[in-house]
Amino acid sequence: MASLYTVKIDTLKGLGEKRCELFNKLGIYTVGELLNYYPRTYEDWSEVVDICDINDGDSVCIAAELTTGVQSGYTKNRKFIAKVFVADDTGVCELVFFNNPYIRNMLKTNTKYRFFGKASRNHTDLQMISPTFMTESDVNVVKPIYNLTAGLPNNVVVNAMKQAVAMLPDKVNDPLPEELREKYNLCDLKFAIENVHFPTDTDALNIARRRLVIEELLVLNLGLRQLKDQKRTQNANIIEKDYSEEFEKLLNFDMTNAQKRVIKDCVSDVMNPEICMNRLVQGDVGSGKTVVAGSLCYTVVKNGGQAAIMAPTEILAEQHYNSFKEILSNTDIRIALLTGSVKESQKKEIRSKLEAGEIDLVIGTHALITDKTLFSNLSLVVTDEQHRFGVAQRAKLLSKGNNPHLLVMSATPIPRTLGLIIFGDLDISIIDELPPGRQEIDTLLIDSTKRQRALGFIKKEILRGRQAYIVCPLVEEGEVDTGLASAEEYAAELMLNFFSDISVGILHGKMKPSEKEAVMADFAENKIKILVATTVIEVGIDVPNATIMMIENAERFGLSQLHQLRGRVGRGSEKSYCILVSDNRTENSVERLKTMCATRDGFKIADADLKLRGPGDFFGSRQHGLPQLNISSLADTRNLEISQKIADYVVSDSNYIYDDRYRALNAEIKRLFSASGEMLN
Ligand code: ADP
Ligand code: MG
Repeated sequence: MASLYTVKIDTLKGLGEKRCELFNKLGIYTVGELLNYYPRTYEDWSEVVDICDINDGDSVCIAAELTTGVQSGYTKNRKFIAKVFVADDTGVCELVFFNNPYIRNMLKTNTKYRFFGKASRNHTDLQMISPTFMTESDVNVVKPIYNLTAGLPNNVVVNAMKQAVAMLPDKVNDPLPEELREKYNLCDLKFAIENVHFPTDTDALNIARRRLVIEELLVLNLGLRQLKDQKRTQNANIIEKDYSEEFEKLLNFDMTNAQKRVIKDCVSDVMNPEICMNRLVQGDVGSGKTVVAGSLCYTVVKNGGQAAIMAPTEILAEQHYNSFKEILSNTDIRIALLTGSVKESQKKEIRSKLEAGEIDLVIGTHALITDKTLFSNLSLVVTDEQHRFGVAQRAKLLSKGNNPHLLVMSATPIPRTLGLIIFGDLDISIIDELPPGRQEIDTLLIDSTKRQRALGFIKKEILRGRQAYIVCPLVEEGEVDTGLASAEEYAAELMLNFFSDISVGILHGKMKPSEKEAVMADFAENKIKILVATTVIEVGIDVPNATIMMIENAERFGLSQLHQLRGRVGRGSEKSYCILVSDNRTENSVERLKTMCATRDGFKIADADLKLRGPGDFFGSRQHGLPQLNISSLADTRNLEISQKIADYVVSDSNYIYDDRYRALNAEIKRLFSASGEMLN
């Protein structure tokens, strides 16, 4: 197949310059890439349904002949319309076509056709609007349907694909060697490609898909293992003394055993001259990851290195900065905040001090990874809430030092089967214990008829000195930012009516960083009692006196996101509450929200989320910086496990990277990872 990646698609019949450009839009330039463009779905033309058995709303395929000629005319709003009656042995169906004057010539009497479409039934009258059709002799039983782009019809892709499939040589260079295919019962690549596009029947399709899915997961799996093996070894950052006990004395609490254990893991990494640390610290919301990072930064800085902490939002960066400034106030450690909204002149000063080694610890956002930021001796990089960063961004920050140590912190509870794969390039430490004295969080699910009562309850708690978050309509990726207006309207409504005597603040993504900062500061100082917010508060914010979280339209959130949101309360010593408001009564939605009420275990919630909602983008490449998958899904745990087993076999079988039998497999690994900008040697 490799050579087909060098054949341009303009060599295919029917693809002129214009159409080629449309294929280019889909990322397809070569015949090889075209063959990798798998169908989005299939129409099964083999399952023919008798006309008498069709119900209103069915999407079906019928085998029928015309009983009349095609009648045509114009609708009231001057659309061309053609109608024709067709019949099988069991009944009659009317077909209606719009805007297609050629239909008269395309449909002939005395010819058997298959028609595929959505039927509507009104008593005995059956109708199909704009069905697709082909003559019985052309039926290609399972028809592939591709994702398209404007101006590119499915049949053009199908025609190009037919030619591309025909170009496959007899012996395709298969990434999976024969013995491997036999061992794991997988079909060969040629059969797989032919049948994923033009399956002879559904069995063949399933066999083809299974093989391609497992191959892709295997390639991902091996690629991630290679990243892990690339583990940077020379360690130029000599850390000789452990200062974690000294750091703990600066705190007004004792570290939990779990925190101590994780700090020990990290310290032994950085003190080991043989390795460079690549460690993920996973801990549920509120488990105290920040001070773990702080402790390690302290040790590194005390040994003469520089440390950088990168947070995904300005609010979070500021919060970390403020808490570290306080913890380190009686030490000689020089600390700075570098975010996009820091004044240009100040940024300049901070950057020159970083370069001169006059700042020891810098906390910031993406501003840290711009080319302008240089360090004199960057020895440790910490990224907080890792799921927000791509692997590439992490790499960029690492490139700013001489092989600095890396600590990645994440609260995203990932089902254990996936953790291994997603974070395959990192060693993992888990903080599996919450600081003592944490209160239970009572989680309740209500519908909007009970909202007034809930607001009354919030008011009562506020009069007792507590604070509350109200999260209202979220803005989804790609959606127009309706959250802005609604957060503001919602807050205005509350201020005017229910909470007219209570200070209400607003926080949303469209505010200027300085405005956000001011609101957060007021909330942290208890000047604002109720914070109405969009999901910008999801990540990391810490105000222990806030004890109520009310979430409107809770059904619109993923469980893991709800879990993150809920983690904003229950952080102090007061009893906390999470109120989920939803009027959605679908079974799936109710089950999901009930799971939230029933457990506080992030891993259980992640598992339920995966089962009930599917992978969504929670496990998509957007959040993890993993390569874009073409046919497989990380939610497919069964095939993931199989691919894991095969990967184990390949690795144990030989030094496969240099083994000729695995040359095509290695090429696939390179291809998958180079498309994502990930670097494999
Ligand atoms: P997360 O793991 O979600 O990032 P944080 O680091 O923000 O959690 O910690 C949550 C809160 O718990 C903070 O107010 C922090 O100061 C506090 N905290 C952390 N560790 C301990 C501890 N061992 N004992 C008491 N409080 C702690
Ligand atoms: Mg945190």
